[in-house]
Amino acid sequence: MSLGTGRYIAYLVAAVFFILALKGLSNPKKARIGNIGGAIGMLIALVMVFTTSGLHNLWEISLGMVVGVVVGVPAARLVKMTAMPQMVAAFNGVGGAAAALVSIMFFSFIDGNLATLATYKVFEVIFGVVIGSVSFTGSIVAFLKLQEIMPGRPVTYRGQQAINGVIGLAILGCVFYVLVDPTKTVMLIVLLLALVFGVIFTLPIGGADAPVLISLLNSFTGLSVAATGFTLQSIVLIVAGTLVGASGTLLTMLMSQAMGRSIPNILFSAFGSKVTASGAMDKEGRSVKSGTAEDIGTLLAYSSKVAIVPGYGLAVAQAQHVARELAQALEKKGIEVFYGIHPVAGRMPGHMNVLLAEADVPYEELKEMDSANSEMSTVDVVLVVGANDVVNPAAKTSPGSPIYGMPIIEVNQARTVVFLKRSMRPGFAGIDNDLLYDEKTTMLFGDAKESLTKLVGAVNAA
Ligand code: NDP
Repeated sequence: MSLGTGRYIAYLVAAVFFILALKGLSNPKKARIGNIGGAIGMLIALVMVFTTSGLHNLWEISLGMVVGVVVGVPAARLVKMTAMPQMVAAFNGVGGAAAALVSIMFFSFIDGNLATLATYKVFEVIFGVVIGSVSFTGSIVAFLKLQEIMPGRPVTYRGQQAINGVIGLAILGCVFYVLVDPTKTVMLIVLLLALVFGVIFTLPIGGADAPVLISLLNSFTGLSVAATGFTLQSIVLIVAGTLVGASGTLLTMLMSQAMGRSIPNILFSAFGSKVTASGAMDKEGRSVKSGTAEDIGTLLAYSSKVAIVPGYGLAVAQAQHVARELAQALEKKGIEVFYGIHPVAGRMPGHMNVLLAEADVPYEELKEMDSANSEMSTVDVVLVVGANDVVNPAAKTSPGSPIYGMPIIEVNQARTVVFLKRSMRPGFAGIDNDLLYDEKTTMLFGDAKESLTKLVGAVNAA
């Protein structure tokens, strides 16, 4: 077997590891092993690159890797679970920039002149530059919004869609021009336009919709990496980029389905710029029933089946450990407990799974939306911990509602509903939730962690 054949086989093995990593990451139980599989695939790819004969700039590449490790490892280890979306945004932006830079270098410095290249090669280069640049600046804006360095609400101005459309068309025009007459000046213009487009395209997207945007930008980065792979004739880059591009696209589609909104609605409607409920006072003068931790603890202790439905507030309060303590206290009394997990509860895909896994909640107790709903009518008490939109019946009953069509966890089917939240304020969608005023609902006001801690005490004392 020649060295070349061995190298191709090694790349094939790396690609298989990448695919198995994605498979593992789609299931909480196998996510850790999937992640390790992805790292092994990457290690194989790196070893193959470093053992390529005639590799130039070894010192510069090694220096880049050292910088990456010094920045990346502490960032990944120290990041708080609630700050994960912005870290993904930052890392994705760096990936997009790297893909764009490789394409720029290939054109300007290595091959000298685009005019000497075949048209399909020029297309690969320009594709990598445009998509990588949009992904880079778009990810920076998403990061700034999520980190609250700039306002998270959608930034809108008059003629915004028209301006975005004109710049988008200008980029397309320049791309066609470069394909026919590849001059450096037009190449530079298209690079600048793509960088600007990444910013203006992201501005009208609200901070809470940013995870969907990041998933989309992630697929862009994947595509630009694949284009770079064609340029450099690197099989492993083509495979890895295509996998990222495809998985990012699928994740974007799944998230928009779970939110009951179309992708154009998420990208172009400036969702979240209008809040229709303030939570200050109910305009119809409806009354709200609130209870004490002792009353609710007694209610829980005398139930036979309890469901816990977590949402964004659980993440904010970091209440996952105490939620598990409460479940254990109930189980000790012979009460059946399960967690109902909505796919877009929280602010990033899998947010609740990650938090509850961190608290060592047994996987068997996590029920996905459909299976939670099929059992909900047999539940005595459902505790809605910091969730709002994902349990709002308006998604099924009010055609005019911004969340109409979004599948929900039907907590209203349970015998009693208890909401743990701090106030009557709405959730991400900014709309009222009629279930808060329902006669089967009791509110337990306060921070979710504090309320759950009180409930553990009350259940143990009952
Ligand atoms: P929501 O944003 O609807 O509601 C969260 C609730 O938590 C609020 O009503 C808030 O009420 C309460 N809360 C906040 N902090 C605390 C705290 N410390 N203690 C107790 N309660 C608290 O969250 P959901 O999880 O129900 O829904 C997620 C929303 O985010 C959906 O609309 C979804 O479409 C959207 N989204 C999700 C993404 C994802 O990938 N998961 C991505 C993008 C958007 P109060 O202030 O009164 O305490």
